[in-house]
Parts: sequence; C-alpha cells; structure tokens
Amino acid sequence: MRPSLDLIVVGAGIQGAGVAEAAAAAGHSVLVLEQAAAPAAATSSRSSKLIHGGLRYLEHGDFALVRRCLAARRRLLRLAPHRVRLLPFFLPVYDDSPRGPLVLRLGLLLYDVLAMGGAPRHRRLPRAAHAECLPLRQDGLLAVFRYYDAATDDAALTRSVLESAQRLGARALFEARFEGAEWGDAGVKVHWREAGGARRTLDAAALVLATGPWIERSLAGLRPPLAAPPLEYVQGSHIVLCGELGERAYYLQAPDGRGVFVAPWRGRLLVGTTERPYAGDPAAVRPGADEIEELLGVFNHHFPGFYGGRAAGASDVLEAFAGLRVLPAGRGATAARSRRPLLWTDPNPVPRVLAVCGGKLTLYHETAEAALQRLGRALPARPRRADLDRLPLP
Ligand SMILES: Cc1cc2nc3c(=O)[nH]c(=O)nc-3n(C[C@H](O)[C@H](O)[C@H](O)COP(=O)(O)OP(=O)(O)OC[C@H]3O[C@@H](n4cnc5c(N)ncnc54)[C@H](O)[C@@H]3O)c2cc1C
Repeated sequence: MRPSLDLIVVGAGIQGAGVAEAAAAAGHSVLVLEQAAAPAAATSSRSSKLIHGGLRYLEHGDFALVRRCLAARRRLLRLAPHRVRLLPFFLPVYDDSPRGPLVLRLGLLLYDVLAMGGAPRHRRLPRAAHAECLPLRQDGLLAVFRYYDAATDDAALTRSVLESAQRLGARALFEARFEGAEWGDAGVKVHWREAGGARRTLDAAALVLATGPWIERSLAGLRPPLAAPPLEYVQGSHIVLCGELGERAYYLQAPDGRGVFVAPWRGRLLVGTTERPYAGDPAAVRPGADEIEELLGVFNHHFPGFYGGRAAGASDVLEAFAGLRVLPAGRGATAARSRRPLLWTDPNPVPRVLAVCGGKLTLYHETAEAALQRLGRALPARPRRADLDRLPLP
C-alpha cells in the first residue's frame, strides 16, 4: 500500500518548521503536527534571539560549528532582512574579567576570518571612546571591543519558516498531540489526538520527530521502540528589564566565564542566559529566583548605576522566561558541551524515522537539509518546488 503522505513532522519549533520547509521545497507532501495552538510555543520562543556564530564555541575548539553558523547568518541576512538584523556588540574587558584583552582579540580575529565577510570586522575602541559605552562601568575597564553579530525575533522567524513551508504546500495542524507510531519497511502509521479528544491516524513514507525537550517522551510512543543517545536537559533563563541602551548589544563576562548578553528587545533590554540542569516536565520549566538574581548581578556589575545612579533590582524585571537546551550527556560543565544538532534514525538500511533536537536556531536550514538527506531513500523522488537558497522568507 502506498502511504498517503511523504512526510509527517512532529513539532512546530524551528527544527520542525525547517524540516517541513526543506521537504516541501523538495516537492514532498508534508504534514506538521504541533501540540500547542501556535508555532514556536517552546524553546524556539525562549532563546537569546541571536543569529550568531557563537564566539564562545571557539574556546571549545569547535571552529567548524562557528564557521557553519556564520554562513547561516550570511544566508539569513540575505533571505530574511526583515527578520534578522546586524547589531554592533560591545565586549568590555575589566581587570577582573575571566578573559583578558589578548585572548579576546585573538578570538575576534578568528571570528572575523571564519565569518568570511558579511559583517564589519571587529575593532578595539580607542580609550577616548570608552565613555561612548556609558552607562557601562568605567572603573577597571581595560578595553572595549566592538564586533558584529545578528539578532532576530525567534518566534517570528519560526513562524516565517513555517509559513514558507505552507506556501510550498505543507499542511500544519495545531492542538494535535502526537501519541505514537508503528514503523516498518512499508512506511509509518502515525497517531495523534486532536484538541477535542478525537484520535487520528495517517500513513506516511517517513516521520520526523522534532519535539525538542519532549524528544524522549515522543520516542517512547514508537513501535518498535527507538532509543535516544544519552541526553541532558539544561535550563537557560532570561530577564527583560525596562530601559534602553540603543541599537547595540553587550557581551558581558560572568564571573564563572560564561557569556551573558544584553540586547535590545522590543524597546527594552533582554539579559541572559543561565545554565542549570533540569529533569522535570518540559512544560513546567520556569526561571528560578536564584537565576534572576544571578542575571541581575552580572548586569549590575557592568551597569552599576543603570537607573539614574540606582542598580537594577527585582522590581525592574518586567518579564522572565526559561527554555531548555537538549545536550549530549557527558562529564564536566554543560557550557563546554557541544551545541551541534543531534540527529539519529532507526537502524534500518532505509531509515523511516528520524529524531532531531538541540542545535541552534541559527543553523536550522542546514539541520533540515541534513535530516532530509538521512531520510532520502525512504522519500519518493518528486519534482523540486523551490531552491531555498534563493527564496526569501515571508
Ligand atoms: C536558553 C537558550 C538560549 C538559546 N539561544 C540561542 C540563540 O541565541 N541562537 C541560536 O541560534 N540558538 C539558541 N538556542 C538554541 C535554540 O533555541 C534551539 O536549538 C531551538 O529553538 C530548538 O528548536 P526545536 O524545534 O528543536 O525545539 P522546540 O522549539 O522546543 O520545539 C519543539 C516543539 O515540539 C512540540 N511538541 C512536543 N511534543 C509534541 C507532541 N507529542 N505532539 C506535537 N507536538 C509536540 C512542542 O510543543 C514544541 O513546539 C538557545 C536555546 C536555549 C535553551
């Protein structure tokens, strides 16, 4: 029996939307199932909202990931200038900062090389220009670097990618919770529940589970089962403060060496992020009071008199939100763990089920292409509908 659809994608976060878009562009019939009422209901609306190479990953030697992310940044600046904009990032170095000016200079030089154009090169501001960065603390300030990276509205970007998929023929169902699937040589029988409680079933040639931090729960519904590699879930929180610093962002060094971004966000300031292990229900992740305090601490250390001489306090926090990173399990600090996307398939010579999670918002298109390539033999050949390297995002 021929399956009625080429591909069912579960999850309308950036990864699910990206796979749906790439598959629809390749000519396939695609159905997206999303449990929430709208796209980007989870991690893909709770990120740091940066389209970036990840300056920090240089420290862990993952030059290839940085280069690929910077290429994705160039692509998105070209295809979605209404969604992705370049911003100057100011990186202050103090006498007590975990990394000194020399190390940062080397990192930024490498970042410029890997970017291969597309943004102005970094520069160290002359000392006389440090005051331009007020209300940044000037006491103990050794150097300020300016480099460029890009920012977005993560939920709007995800909606655009899904809309692009829909324009190319994909269908999306919301309030449709995937419950399980049976898969075999002939295809995949997929079951989901609608908001009203009705159970639906459809056959497809292949299935992609892009359910982010729910990935292990989704896999548990597969027959025969498909195991996940060992994973860890790491909570990252952000706060939104009232006030503005202009059309620029800051990359601050937290005392433990992690980077904390301060970026303009809808006329306010977005400050984040933290890293905390998380083991509960993905739907219940919330910023902890200690995380809010930690972010306020880093902000106040760098902007001690932000509110007319007064430091920021809990009452200045207009909003706080948390998202979950899905990382490969391992030893040591989670900050040093790879941010590469995680993809795996069933072990058959012609895989029909693929799971994708983690990775970067920035890298969604490359991740989607990799997913399709892995499922290529299960998907029937179709005439291509669009070249996504030339198609502007809606
Ligand atoms: C704190 C933080 C900051 C980050 N900052 C950045 C950044 O600045 N730049 C960057 O490039 N990347 C960043 N990332 C990474 C990026 O945000 C994620 O890699 C990306 O959003 C993951 O998308 P996803 O589609 O895999 O997951 P999600 O966005 O979580 O989507 C999964 C979807 O699956 C749905 N779902 C789950 N179970 C079911 C089911 N049974 N049936 C139907 N639907 C289901 C969920 O409702 C959800 O919509 C950050 C991540 C975190 C956590």
